[in-house]
Amino acid sequence: MVAALGTLRELAHALEAGTCSAHELVRQSLERAEALEPALGAYLGLRAEAALREAEEADRRRARGAPRSPLDGIPVAVKDNLAIRGEPLSCGSRILRGYVSPFTSTAVAHLERAGLVVVGRTNLDEFAMGSSTEHSCAGPTRNPFDPERTPGGSSGGSAAAVATGSVPAALGSDTGGSVRQPASFCGVVGLKPTYGRVSRLGLVAFASSLDQVGVLARSAEDAALLLGVVAGHDPADSTSLPQPVPDYAAALSGDVSGLRIGIPKEYFPEQGGNAAVFERVRAAVAELVSAGAREVTVSLPHTRHAIATYYLICTAEASSNLARYDGVRYGHRSPRARTLAEMYRRTRSEGFGAEVKRRILLGTFVLSAGYFDAYYRKAQQVRTLIRRDFERAFEHCDLIATPTTPEPAFRLGERERDPVSMYLSDIYTVSVNLAGLPAISVPCGEVGGLPVGLQLIAPPLGEPEVLRAADAYQRRTDWHRRRPAEAA
Ligand code: GLN
Repeated sequence: MVAALGTLRELAHALEAGTCSAHELVRQSLERAEALEPALGAYLGLRAEAALREAEEADRRRARGAPRSPLDGIPVAVKDNLAIRGEPLSCGSRILRGYVSPFTSTAVAHLERAGLVVVGRTNLDEFAMGSSTEHSCAGPTRNPFDPERTPGGSSGGSAAAVATGSVPAALGSDTGGSVRQPASFCGVVGLKPTYGRVSRLGLVAFASSLDQVGVLARSAEDAALLLGVVAGHDPADSTSLPQPVPDYAAALSGDVSGLRIGIPKEYFPEQGGNAAVFERVRAAVAELVSAGAREVTVSLPHTRHAIATYYLICTAEASSNLARYDGVRYGHRSPRARTLAEMYRRTRSEGFGAEVKRRILLGTFVLSAGYFDAYYRKAQQVRTLIRRDFERAFEHCDLIATPTTPEPAFRLGERERDPVSMYLSDIYTVSVNLAGLPAISVPCGEVGGLPVGLQLIAPPLGEPEVLRAADAYQRRTDWHRRRPAEAA
């Protein structure tokens, strides 16, 4: 089988030195993806012809001495809920079967402007609702470390593609953990930026006040490089932040001396949870402490309400956002209806999967006149308390460290019948979205042969700080270099 691709940094060097061409890299990427695909299920579609053509254009630009960026010509993958003009956009849903996007999302437009070549669209839980990539109408992606387990979700396809090296990096989206949790399950780096740091224009809306485009890569350095490409103000997204984009890669000094790392006492229970996961995370923090950081204990007292709050708010927003799939404007339309009302009903009943229906029902319920105050308004109030918890904690520390997930990758099918147990795998990630903060997951060890992740959380726009700490950790450890067997 053709070899795994190197990191973004390595590939940029190789292109610069002329030891390989963009065409060769993109061909290698496509061949590797195709060879792994039958067993892995990471992609919903490859853009072989277009990608090879774009690579040739990148080679011509470089030959003229005019590359668009140091990453010009490098292959990447994109989660199939980000619009690419002229390409199918399925969100892993039957309801969008046959839909082709008429425009390109801002995040992907930024990739194109830097010359990066999108080789394929990656698998996801339907409309990004899930933690296992099992809720995709195309079937699940498998975990590269154990094909009987999930890669996490909802950006499971992107995580598996990066872990197996068909691409050096990929875009995902993170509403409640969907970049960080699959990164943790697949042994790669996943960064969710501050809410509004990356434009949401052309990211199919799930829960608009929580959704954020994120990056998956093999190293913190690569995550910094890719974030630098996609971040920035977008006048077409009113929630996008107008702040300038710092040079994230330049922030990677390796220096963490004096950095105060907060350990939230509510996240490290004396009992419960997987003790081996906590042990790996504590060892990772100890590594940063031995590099000069300082450990402090902080408190996030409203943590126990995070899952309930998240699932009330995200389902409410989803029920409203998904009203647009009505058989009139997008994709599938039931052919069997005789009246308009029946057409709406049948289209949605045929087009949406069980998890999406569950969330639309729950969201409609919490927004209904009789229950709005008891559920939706209350959830918004608790959301404020959760955000304030973080503000107070950050008076005493610079970053907060937690496990990314309570356990390593679970088995396919294991939690499908019990949605609440699936929801609980987001316990450490959802608060970060409720508070709009940036956070990264970095591979920090193994439990039972499966990767686990360290999550580092920063105050708003603290991407340089989480990246610096993650990079400092990776300079001292090798966990991020460990590949799944078939990808070695
Ligand atoms: N697993 C969470 C959910 O099911 C998060 C999803 C996401 O971040 N897109 O909602």
